[in-house]
Amino acid sequence: MKIIEYDGHVHTPFCPHGSQAPFKQYIETAIQHGYKGVSFCEHAPLPNSFPDPTPKKDSSMALSELEAYIKTIRDVRKSYKNDITIRIGLEVDFIEGYESETQQLLNHYGPYLDDSILSVHFIKAEGSFGLLDYSVDAFQTLAQKIGGIEPLVHRYYETLLQSIEADLGKYKPRRLGHMSLVRKFQKEFNLPSDEQWLEKVLHAVKKSGLSLDINGAGVVKPLCGETYPPLHFIQKAHDLGIPLVYGSDAHHPDGLGQGSEALPQVAFSSP
Ligand SMILES: [Zn+2]
Ligand SMILES: [Zn+2]
Repeated sequence: MKIIEYDGHVHTPFCPHGSQAPFKQYIETAIQHGYKGVSFCEHAPLPNSFPDPTPKKDSSMALSELEAYIKTIRDVRKSYKNDITIRIGLEVDFIEGYESETQQLLNHYGPYLDDSILSVHFIKAEGSFGLLDYSVDAFQTLAQKIGGIEPLVHRYYETLLQSIEADLGKYKPRRLGHMSLVRKFQKEFNLPSDEQWLEKVLHAVKKSGLSLDINGAGVVKPLCGETYPPLHFIQKAHDLGIPLVYGSDAHHPDGLGQGSEALPQVAFSSP
């Protein structure tokens, strides 16, 4: 395995669709791998008025758990302060039309966070929201609602561009999550080329001063088989001077480091 200095996208036992593996196990695995630091970025509580579209309503932690989440990480950070850098973060959903509620959450909790990620998992379709990366079936259903695979791909990147430009206040996350997530099931569907979109997104990221989550989770997804974004865009992002932070997106300690093998060294900056 590659020597990874920093993993900027790690989930936790607070994730209702992840694993219950304790923080200790994540941290000790990270130390064994030789990590110098991690950012725990759990799925942030969704806006109160946003109905979670997943069947089990388990996309994110509940708002009532957020304080315990922050406190627990502060405690483990203390115990491991001589061994590894630990940052407290959230993976915040950008949800079209819910910007002000999202900003309220960030205004309230932002002062306690060190490093967060902004991601798009929910896509607006005819007044309700569909799931981009939940399952092949959900992707198909969402595409049908929007009018096909191609319109869905376009809608995804439009939403991603909106997220980059959105005003979410002074605690808006500083890193864009898995920018090519729409490719998660690419071997199942005949996706149109999204190269121009990816190019556009990179320029928007550059302009906004965000960094990029170089996400390894897609590599181990059999229907995806590549990083988010794909390798040649990692090089382009680097050439543009965008800071790149590797993220395993692990939902279990065994996932730490996943997808890192093929990545160039430029993908491993610290946030
Ligand atoms: Zn997750
Ligand atoms: Zn995500």
